[in-house]
Amino acid sequence: MLLKKIIAKKEGLLIDIEGPLVSRIEGGNVYSDALTLLKEFSDLKIALLTNIARKSSRYISKTLSKYGLNFMSNQVINPTKAAINQVLGKEFSRPVRVYLISEGGHYEDIIIFDWIDIVRNEPIDAILLGANRNITYQELNFAFRCILKGAKLVVLGGDLWTYGSQYRDEGPYLMEGAFAKVLEEAAGVKARYVGKPNREIFIEAINFLNLPKEKILMIGDSVKTDIVGACLIGIDAVLIDRVGNKDVELRELLRDISCKSDIYYTRSLGPSSETRKITYKY
Ligand SMILES: [Mg+2]
Repeated sequence: MLLKKIIAKKEGLLIDIEGPLVSRIEGGNVYSDALTLLKEFSDLKIALLTNIARKSSRYISKTLSKYGLNFMSNQVINPTKAAINQVLGKEFSRPVRVYLISEGGHYEDIIIFDWIDIVRNEPIDAILLGANRNITYQELNFAFRCILKGAKLVVLGGDLWTYGSQYRDEGPYLMEGAFAKVLEEAAGVKARYVGKPNREIFIEAINFLNLPKEKILMIGDSVKTDIVGACLIGIDAVLIDRVGNKDVELRELLRDISCKSDIYYTRSLGPSSETRKITYKY
């Protein structure tokens, strides 16, 4: 089926940023087929669904505009917003005292909420663990002590590592997921992960679009986060596989989970590109 026919049945899109729209948020390039698609379906409601939280939604929105992609910062749904509205706002009594481990960007998405106090001393209701490449032993150990006393551990994302560059040093970097494992192991607790593929961030995005799930289509390039997440929440999804090496991974993963939504596979986001519906019930 043509991609535009699938989209024409929907009223809203959830689009992952890195992969479908740009190769990388910093120093990457924009994909022209994505620009064409967005132009053709400019009347649809759109939310960008990203696991990037170390940069604020405002920063992401500003950076995307340099690529010719115009989205407001409220259209950028990230793990920080999911943690605030779906976890802290629903399961904690206010004001909520949080200990934030962050490289900086998370602050911007949190400080607009006057019922959240970002503090450095006890008592702490929740540890918000974001990516921080300057994390110290003292920070990690303070978080550990608070968890032992009952603070909840909320992980803003969950990648174990990522490829990046900082101070001109390029290479793999340990991310928040790795430090979450340390705290989980040591304190004997299970952390709450709020990024894709977990439901909190999808609920946050669905609420933002204010549409029934059947009217929403997810477009992503990651089987493990975008496609599995859409399946688990019950949203139809398109896997964009520009390189052409994700077919096997997609079939294998979909065999392992129960998925009631329709999943399509495409090599390009051009509106006239052919998609393949994946049948996973053998
Ligand atoms: Mg991606």
